[in-house]
Amino acid sequence: MKKINLPSEVYDVISKLHRANFNAYIVGGCIRDILLNRKPKDWDITTNAKPEEIIQLFPDSIYENSWGTVRVKTESEDPSLKIIEVTTFRKEGKYTDKRHPDTITFASTLEEDLSRRDFTINAIALDIKNQKYIFIDPFLGKEDIRKKIIRTVGDPDKRFQEDALRLMRAVRFACELNFQIEPRTLQAISRNAHLLRFIAKERIRDEFIKIINTPEAARGILLLQKTNLLHEFIPELEEGIGVTQNKHHIYTVWEHSWRALDYAAKKNYNLAIRLAALFHDIGKPRTKQGEGKESTFYGHEIVGTKMTAAILHRLKFPKQFTDKVIKLVRHHYFVYDPEITTDSSVRRLIMKVGKENIFDLAKLREADRIGSGCPKAVPFRLRHFLFRVEKILQEMSGAQPSLKMLAVNGNDVMKILNIPPGPKVGIILNILLGEVLEDLSKNNKEYLQQRIKELGKLPLLELQKFSHKAEKKYRQLLLQEEEKIKKKYHV
Ligand code: ATP
Ligand code: MG
Repeated sequence: MKKINLPSEVYDVISKLHRANFNAYIVGGCIRDILLNRKPKDWDITTNAKPEEIIQLFPDSIYENSWGTVRVKTESEDPSLKIIEVTTFRKEGKYTDKRHPDTITFASTLEEDLSRRDFTINAIALDIKNQKYIFIDPFLGKEDIRKKIIRTVGDPDKRFQEDALRLMRAVRFACELNFQIEPRTLQAISRNAHLLRFIAKERIRDEFIKIINTPEAARGILLLQKTNLLHEFIPELEEGIGVTQNKHHIYTVWEHSWRALDYAAKKNYNLAIRLAALFHDIGKPRTKQGEGKESTFYGHEIVGTKMTAAILHRLKFPKQFTDKVIKLVRHHYFVYDPEITTDSSVRRLIMKVGKENIFDLAKLREADRIGSGCPKAVPFRLRHFLFRVEKILQEMSGAQPSLKMLAVNGNDVMKILNIPPGPKVGIILNILLGEVLEDLSKNNKEYLQQRIKELGKLPLLELQKFSHKAEKKYRQLLLQEEEKIKKKYHV
């Protein structure tokens, strides 16, 4: 028997329902997660109490839909426990639009409620009456969890026809849990994939994001393709199937794309990098010229950027996020040569991709390389690029030592010494910077004003000598900074 640690918040809600003579069970994803030793994302309770009765028992609750779900607030700090959803037993009505049941009817038994749930692994309830824990598992979900199988409750064709979002959910759970989809369920997904067109794009997007955010993202993409689901919402990706590339590539465009995604997912890179990895070469099939070893793909990154924008727009991704992904796709093809590439061209690339995205662009390059079958993700060239980027970013941010960091400026020098603008002003400031770099505590107004007075008395020639020394010191410091960054990237 499994030892179960129920959070006290969940226990309290159940007890309160029991004391009021209602039946109440913990149900759904949280039971599945407990059995898998995963931390549940949220806790659901199902009961024969009607919504009005639940609200009466829990005055601090919200009932905002007509689905029979009451959201009970708790005192917990844990985000997964702040709200516990209590839902009246339901049976599912008829679905004429393949989206929502036409009516919600309450069921009278737990078994009926479990039978409307999507997959066997999500249709297990836990009864905690009389201090004993009993699983109620009429569809043998525990067995499927043990076998790591996704299987619909009841006839798969019927269940997918009722609600086509379940098609995406099946693949999502297969990826999140690293399970296999049972053959009959899998065949039914392929047969019913076309029904996905009845589902709101936002809901498809949310499941798609969950798939891409798992370490199994690439398997997810292959599964979506195999089941015809990908064809329904990103048909553009399928254009790369069977499209061979030139002598620099061993994989087709399609295989290269999912392999790049696989690397980004296994490295736990962010969603934007993962999607950029999947889409970066999506423009290749439409730009391919010639055949075999000599084929070319001129402008594929531009065509690919447009296609990526269209896809993300269609799936209703937020604009800011889309902008980031398309910048990565647009510039994934950047060329960098430590000997030839100038600082200003690196600076231009940073400005075009955005300071906040430039390191993600390098990660995309890693994914691109590994997805091409290269053995090494970060070769010398890419490390050198990272070093140059970091050095230039430091320059751009003004974090480097400069006259600007002094607590006094040229005006102070002119005023204190009562001299007009001229070389002497800069020379004195240089000397001050040298002293401050030596000892940062000297960077205060009183001290520096005093020093200006003293230095003002010295002849120009002597000042120049001091200034040269200070400049040398300053240059040395810059070099030291550069060495530090070089060391960081082993270049
Ligand atoms: P997670 O919260 O980890 O994403 P979950 O299984 O808890 O996964 P939810 O969307 O929170 O998924 O739904 C809770 C439960 O409601 C599910 O476990 C399942 O029993 C049921 N359910 C959710 N969506 C559907 C659906 N489209 N069709 C049938 N049952 C569903
Ligand atoms: Mg859940």
